[in-house]
Amino acid sequence: SSGPGYVGRFAPSPTGPLHAGSLATALASRLDALARGGQWLLRIEDLDPPREVPGAAATIVDTLGRLGFAPDGPIEYQSRRGARYQEAFERLHAAGLVYPCACTRREIADSLGRAGLARERNRERVYPGTCRNGMPAGRSARAWRLRVGEAVVAWTDRSGRAFEDRMADEVGDFVLRRADGLWAYQLAVVVDDAAQGVTDIVRGEDLIGSTSRQILLQRLLGLPTPRYLHLPVVAGADGEKLSKQNGAEPVDASRPLEALHAAMRHLGLSTIEPPLAEARMLPDRRESLDVFWERAARAWRASHWFAG
Ligand code: GLU
Repeated sequence: SSGPGYVGRFAPSPTGPLHAGSLATALASRLDALARGGQWLLRIEDLDPPREVPGAAATIVDTLGRLGFAPDGPIEYQSRRGARYQEAFERLHAAGLVYPCACTRREIADSLGRAGLARERNRERVYPGTCRNGMPAGRSARAWRLRVGEAVVAWTDRSGRAFEDRMADEVGDFVLRRADGLWAYQLAVVVDDAAQGVTDIVRGEDLIGSTSRQILLQRLLGLPTPRYLHLPVVAGADGEKLSKQNGAEPVDASRPLEALHAAMRHLGLSTIEPPLAEARMLPDRRESLDVFWERAARAWRASHWFAG
C-alpha cells in the first residue's frame, strides 16, 4: 500500500556501530517508506545488555543522522519498554499459552540427539517439549516458552516467496522470556511493531526464519500482521552475514555520500547518474544529501524491490 497509512521502521540492535550490512538494510527500509510516501521510524533494540557495546546506540543514531536519515517520530528504545512486554506476556500466560522450562542448552541438545545436532548447525533449535507438561521435580525455570501447538503459519514475502510453517516441526515451543528477566526479541519486536503502527517491515534475509514466530505471536495477541520484505544481506569475507566478527568496518559518517552509494550498490541499485559530480557542485553537504535521497527513492520505486 502507499500513502499516509504506510509506516516502516529500522530496528538495529546496538551490538556495534553501523556497518555496510546494517546500512543497506536501513537504506532499504527508508527508501521503501519514501517511495510510498509513508513514515519511517527508528527503534533501538537494546534488550540484551550482554550483547551490547556501550555507546553503540548513540553512534548508530549519530551516523544515521549524518547520512540524512530522518525518523518521522521519536526514537524508541526497547530497554524502556519492559512494561509493554510484561503485559503481552501476561496475556499469553493467562491464556495458558506459556510454560516455564528448566532445560539447559546442553540438555536440549542431548535430548535432540543427532537429528537435533544437524538442525543445530542450521541454527534451528526445535525444542523437544521436555517441560511442556511440567518441569522435572526439583528444577526451577530457566525460561518461559510459548506453546505453539498445532499452529500453521502461512505467509508470503513481498519478494513473492510463499511459506507455510508447521510451527511444531519447524520451530517448536520458543522462548519468550529468560529467567534472568531478558525478553526475547520475538516478543519485543511484535509488541513494538504493533505499538508503533508499523505496516511494512523491510529487513535482512537473516530474519526470514523469525517471521512465522512473529506472525503467530501477532495472531495470539490479536495484533495486525505487517507486510514483510526480506533482502539479501551483505556477506562478509567468510560468506556469512557481515558482522563485526567477519570484518565489517564501521560506516564512515564523514563521507556520507560514499557510504550511501555503496549501500545502493549492495541493494543492486545502480548508483545514481552522474554519481558524485553533480552533488559536489552543490553549495553544501546538506543539499547534496537531499539530492541523493530524492534520486535514491526514485531508483527504489523503479526497482523490482518496490513491487508487491
Ligand atoms: N534488531 C534486529 C537486528 O538488528 C532486527 C529486528 C527486525 O528488523 O525485525 O538484527
